[in-house]
Amino acid sequence: MQREKPARKQVKPGQVEKAIPEQTGKEYNIWYNKWAGGDREDNYSNKVKSQTRCNIRKDSGWTRGDITGQRYCCLFFSRGCCPYGYECAYLHRLPLPSDTLPDSSLDCFARTKFSDYRDDMGGVGSFNRQNRTLYIGRIRETGPGSETEEAVIRHFKEWGQIEKVRVLQHRSVAFVTYVSELNAQFAKEAMACQSLDNDEILNVRWATEDPNPTSKVLEMQRLEDLGQKAIAEKMDERVLDAVRAVKALEDASRPEGEEAPEEEDELEYLLPEEILAEEGLKYFAEIRARQQQEGLRPAKAVAKPGGLALDYGSDDDEEDE
Ligand SMILES: [Zn+2]
Repeated sequence: MQREKPARKQVKPGQVEKAIPEQTGKEYNIWYNKWAGGDREDNYSNKVKSQTRCNIRKDSGWTRGDITGQRYCCLFFSRGCCPYGYECAYLHRLPLPSDTLPDSSLDCFARTKFSDYRDDMGGVGSFNRQNRTLYIGRIRETGPGSETEEAVIRHFKEWGQIEKVRVLQHRSVAFVTYVSELNAQFAKEAMACQSLDNDEILNVRWATEDPNPTSKVLEMQRLEDLGQKAIAEKMDERVLDAVRAVKALEDASRPEGEEAPEEEDELEYLLPEEILAEEGLKYFAEIRARQQQEGLRPAKAVAKPGGLALDYGSDDDEEDE
């Protein structure tokens, strides 16, 4: 990604018609930003082709958000219509594999997720399930072959690394699973009402949960691994070592025959055989001595900048525009 250049302004102010929801219903639902009570409200807005499309290679670059420590992407950038360019308070780039957001109830655009999905699986989505799979409907297929799959991959890989693609041949439907949930969120906005190669208007929604029990188990395992990895990554090596040393102390003082609690078995596995209780204590003392040498800044010495849960985020995240 070309991050050394300033983000360009994708549109001129006023160039894109403001998409005000048509009043086709009786009641305006501020949560879903649409009119309810009319049968065709979503059919209409969902079948008008998007006027702009993001071009990551041309459009992405640094913005004011990069300077203020902004963690969230610009929604309008993803749709190809942010007039602010480098002056934007949000990021004009794809979510990175290394990105973790401070608040899991928000999506990559800082929009609040809901406890349940919308009936039509559109919208921001739910915080109750990590969803990395998009449903792509209304694909215009041009043959019986694999060209549909090729087109889906070509268009959707622009928005992040894809784990798998499944095309339901002759049914105009495909499923795209991203490696990262954040890229799925970005892609859902970037490809809403866009076309593949045949001037269709895609219907992009969240996929419902895979009912296959095997994939359910695999997904749970994946989330568990991810959680453990995230915790380990955020912990300072010295803190981890200290935790292990304390664990060794506890083990050493446990009476013969008493079983360690189950989840501690894994820690024991990580523990080098040679680390004895005394070593652990010495290590702790060493850390403390080093901290004092480093100018009595114990909090800073323990946590890497931006690491651990000690990073409570910054006020910049709340900055709105
Ligand atoms: Zn922007």
